[in-house]
Amino acid sequence: MKYKRILLKLSGEALMGNRQYGIDPERLAEYAKDIKTITDKGVEVAIVIGGGNIFRGVSGASNGMDRVQGDHMGMLATVINGLALQSALEDTGIPTRLQSAIKINEVAEPFIRRRAMRHLEKGRVVIFGGGTGNPYFTTDSAAVLRAIEIEADVILKGTRVDGIYNADPEKDDKAVKFNFISFEDVLKKGLKVMDTTAFTLSQENELPIIVFDMNKKGNLLKVVSGENVGTEVNI
Ligand code: UDP
Repeated sequence: MKYKRILLKLSGEALMGNRQYGIDPERLAEYAKDIKTITDKGVEVAIVIGGGNIFRGVSGASNGMDRVQGDHMGMLATVINGLALQSALEDTGIPTRLQSAIKINEVAEPFIRRRAMRHLEKGRVVIFGGGTGNPYFTTDSAAVLRAIEIEADVILKGTRVDGIYNADPEKDDKAVKFNFISFEDVLKKGLKVMDTTAFTLSQENELPIIVFDMNKKGNLLKVVSGENVGTEVNI
């Protein structure tokens, strides 16, 4: 395996599958199976899960809700997704721990860096819920932050598209995919990989990001083995 310790970022929307809202149990089970293929090979896996399938602070704010209140709802949504993912992973026999950035002790462990690293060393998948624990951030920022903290080798951003293109592939059929692109070029070309806060944190800490299609079975294993799947962003 090319990577020993990875941080997998899954958006809340990815969990919806073909639904308009909420969680699709079949999609979740497929993700769990894919994750098991890499834990079986000894790869240490941490996961940051989004909450967009349930609630986003910005959309709350656009409907007149206080932004911070909405962000708190969004962060709690990520804990709900984390619990769902934890169950799906445990159904496949993977030991897991859910750590939350917001204290919610009856439901999840609090985020403790050293404890998270110990879980990983013991072969447990660690799911980080609650984002960064702060409003005005995204779970992409949480993913980069946690990846740096736990000294992950790479962030794997599992999405619905198979990489980064020079134009939107869903709108422009001439769009060309990059296999590799530097942080600098992403900024120069104004491409969207993550929000700016998350992206610059990754760049400053020289933490590579691989964007790939998580919905294609077997892709996760390919990425972790070093096959050229998706787009790698690196220095
Ligand atoms: N959120 C937050 N702070 C964080 C992470 C998330 O306030 O550190 C809130 C924010 O309202 C966000 C929501 O949680 O809209 C869900 O997270 P995100 O939109 O990143 O989820 P994804 O797009 O990955 O599904």
